[in-house]
Amino acid sequence: MKANDPTRKSWVEVAKDSDFPIQNLPFGVFRTASNPSPRVCTAIGDNVVDLAVMNYLDLFEELEIDNEVFNNPYLNQLMALGKTKTRALRDRIADLLDERNDEAKDLAWHFLHPMDKVEMLMPVQVGDYTDFYSSLDHATNVGSMFRPDNPLLPNWKHIPVGYHGRASSIVVSGTPIHRPMGQTMPDGAERPVFGPSRLLDFELEMGFVIGQPTKMGQRITTAEAEDYIFGVVLFNDWSARDIQKWEYVPLGPFLAKNFASTISPWIITLDAIDPFRTDNPKQDPEPLDYLKFDGKKTYDISLEVAIRTEAGAEATVCRSNFKHMYWNMCQQLAHHTVGGCNVNPGDMCASGTISGPEPGSYGSMLEITWRGTKPVKMPDGTERKFINDGDTVILRGWGEKNGVRIGFGEAAGKVLPPL
Ligand code: CA
Repeated sequence: MKANDPTRKSWVEVAKDSDFPIQNLPFGVFRTASNPSPRVCTAIGDNVVDLAVMNYLDLFEELEIDNEVFNNPYLNQLMALGKTKTRALRDRIADLLDERNDEAKDLAWHFLHPMDKVEMLMPVQVGDYTDFYSSLDHATNVGSMFRPDNPLLPNWKHIPVGYHGRASSIVVSGTPIHRPMGQTMPDGAERPVFGPSRLLDFELEMGFVIGQPTKMGQRITTAEAEDYIFGVVLFNDWSARDIQKWEYVPLGPFLAKNFASTISPWIITLDAIDPFRTDNPKQDPEPLDYLKFDGKKTYDISLEVAIRTEAGAEATVCRSNFKHMYWNMCQQLAHHTVGGCNVNPGDMCASGTISGPEPGSYGSMLEITWRGTKPVKMPDGTERKFINDGDTVILRGWGEKNGVRIGFGEAAGKVLPPL
């Protein structure tokens, strides 16, 4: 992971508070007005770097990667090259953008694009999507609202609880979301009603993306899991609480969750967040053997959620951290595959809402406003219990260490009325 060297500087100007210093080098897919073909890119400062052009210019010559891998609407083929190759690619990009190296500098006009002039696209083709439920504080908060005497179900500390979600409606940041229509049972009513969801919520989550396939029957151990996880994104699991409340017994979330999820456009590699490993939470009772692991699998990554009104007033309503996860990504993937379920490049696993222990760190409006009993004040004087039409919900995330700030960009989505 030479690319992570905190002493590196780029010949491309990078602002101090940028999400994309030379130590980040995430992967994404973009297009421009002058060239509408989607292609693979990375980011540096306020610029997008066209990796298809870099490869065409033979700047990755020794890696021998087909042009097709970069001239591609998705990162699936690139990720499937395997960690050894994609790590070497990231290291090579770091060398090419390093201020001590001028071999690519004169060619910059071929591959550098101002970020505000490009369109970022969905970075991966998501074949399957799974959502976990791995924050102890979130599970306890939600459980205590619906089951005050018994907030945490008996399996929760033994199983990384999850469900299989919907891949077709995962969209990239910037894509508007329509408020879902659906069936709900109003308090005191005798029959359910049909109409727009009145309790539209976000869920602050991180998603990890699978880079390598497995065969059916194969189990990924916690020790192997990081070889299969290409990187992470911000993930907003939009949720309709009133639809959820009526439908979730007995089989769990269905239409309350399947209408939309929003991800950030950049996949931050697991390598890039390596410096932010931190102590794991204590797991008591001890999990079964297949869920045990060695080393630090928890990451100190700051997370925020802001709501922006139609008129542009923005309020930060949540400050949380990825370190609040009880079950880590390696345990989640080991559990996911322990029965022999195979995974494919592009599959996405979301963490579950990441709430911390304090009220300011709750990762959903359900918890922040405690089912609407404590509305949030917006800077324009209005209040929110849940999300209004015209509101934009923005997730942000970053880690910081040794003077290097690795940012995630944004996962933003504006809510529109139902179609
Ligand atoms: Ca969720």
